[in-house]
Amino acid sequence: MKIGLFGGTFDPVHPGHIHAVAEAYIALDLDKVICIPARQAPLKTEAPTSDHHRLKMLEYAVRHYDFIEIDTWEMSQEGVSYTYDTAVHLKAQYPDDTLYFLIGTDQYRSFEKWHRYQELLEMLNFVVMDRYSDAPVSDDRFMSISQPVLEISSTVIRDRLRKGIDVRHQLDPDVYQYIKENHLYEA
Ligand code: ATP
Repeated sequence: MKIGLFGGTFDPVHPGHIHAVAEAYIALDLDKVICIPARQAPLKTEAPTSDHHRLKMLEYAVRHYDFIEIDTWEMSQEGVSYTYDTAVHLKAQYPDDTLYFLIGTDQYRSFEKWHRYQELLEMLNFVVMDRYSDAPVSDDRFMSISQPVLEISSTVIRDRLRKGIDVRHQLDPDVYQYIKENHLYEA
């Protein structure tokens, strides 16, 4: 099988994530994509919303996509979530499959700060997906796909919600309702 892996904090998950995953699924002719919510991303300083809430929102966002699965392995581990550890875990789980780790251009630009990034490049095929309308990636260590870009980010959504700005159009309706019911991202 050809399996896409998509790590993130998903705080909250937004249509930009789903759009990118679905475009990668088509472009790479994948059999499925596994979303891997991080417990705590190593390069992010802000403490994430609880695992429970982030996972619930992700479940809502992917519920209509039969090719998207969620793997909670990182959330079940202690401490910071390193993609290297996840890669070791998934390579053992899928020894005969081809694994594609999908990242947006922002992650690509900080890639050399990732824990054991050189070994990671040997273990997985990294695929960079356009995220902003910036310069295309030309780097022979990475595959890249260019899809129509949905310039949505969790940071902007969190900021807007804290300021009381309506962001309904940037969220799955059930995710939006979940956020309101649980008073997430309030000032
Ligand atoms: P934050 O704003 O909190 O940093 P984020 O919106 O970047 O969050 P993450 O959960 O950190 O979301 O992202 C997970 C993965 O999804 C990363 O590889 C990121 O580059 C990618 N990604 C996020 N938003 C988009 C988007 N709009 N288009 C394409 N890729 C995206």
